[in-house]
Amino acid sequence: MVIPLSHTRTDSLKKLYQPFGVELSVLRLDLLHPVVSGNKWFKLGPWLAEAIAHEKHTVITFGGAWSNHLVATAAACRSAGLGSIGIVRGEEPPVLSPTLVDARQFGMQLVFVPRNVYATKEIPSSMMHLLPNSLVIGEGGYGAPGRDGAAQIASLPHVHEHTHSVVAVGTGTTLAGLVCGTGGHQSVTGIPVVNDDGLPDAIRSLLPPALHDRFRLQAGFSFGGYAKKTGELVRFMNDWFRSTGIPSDLVYTGKLFFAADSLARNGFFPAGSRVLVIHSGGLQGNRSLPAGTLNF
Ligand SMILES: *Cc1c(COP(=O)(O)O)cnc(C)c1O
Repeated sequence: MVIPLSHTRTDSLKKLYQPFGVELSVLRLDLLHPVVSGNKWFKLGPWLAEAIAHEKHTVITFGGAWSNHLVATAAACRSAGLGSIGIVRGEEPPVLSPTLVDARQFGMQLVFVPRNVYATKEIPSSMMHLLPNSLVIGEGGYGAPGRDGAAQIASLPHVHEHTHSVVAVGTGTTLAGLVCGTGGHQSVTGIPVVNDDGLPDAIRSLLPPALHDRFRLQAGFSFGGYAKKTGELVRFMNDWFRSTGIPSDLVYTGKLFFAADSLARNGFFPAGSRVLVIHSGGLQGNRSLPAGTLNF
């Protein structure tokens, strides 16, 4: 599978935010592929290059039943000629989620482990014999290779023309990549979608010391924590789609756009700022919602 980066584009929301003195645009990485989510595709490139360089023929990684990372890994491995194994949180359900069906269709072997075992993030003993020929990628693709892949987002057309960028933060790997890719010339704000006090350190450990202060995390937009949702968030996502035509997901980008909208309206960005909000994809996860929840 080849995903042409030319599928991405920048949508200007100039008219909507002009009254607040800022120019706001959205980088549409969600348009890369309906299932293989934008930032995951970027993060995986160098990981897979590392697997190939070390002559590993399989990638092993972790995720839940709706994981963007899992299905993106399956697709990326297939396109790189590598096998993939997904260690999935929880017992095997009678009916697989569409995400897992897709992952399997991309050739991923699924290994279900009970939640308490999954929490240890250890490779089950039954799989130990695979390790010499496998590369293990942590949940979410966190690490230096993921950062280097995400840094390429900064090379897409128009990214450098912005004074500010805003990005959703799970592990913070994408944010670290943006900070590196823009070399500290852009003020990068991360919106954590998890409540994790360890995030700032986890991000700094991916950055050279000179860039340690070149980002900020804006808390208060996690809506209760990872994958938690409220009626207010769902209403916002539907309103946002009505006014911008841009779809979002409940775990990452709905919270990101809610935050960007609120920050832009409340004077967070200095007048005249050119703000780029990174749509990191993840729309496939919306298939977990009852039909009719969202208007797109
Ligand atoms: C995984 C994911 C993120 C979080 O990326 P990190 O690099 O882990 O911070 C953001 N948005 C979407 C859509 C994702 O799937």
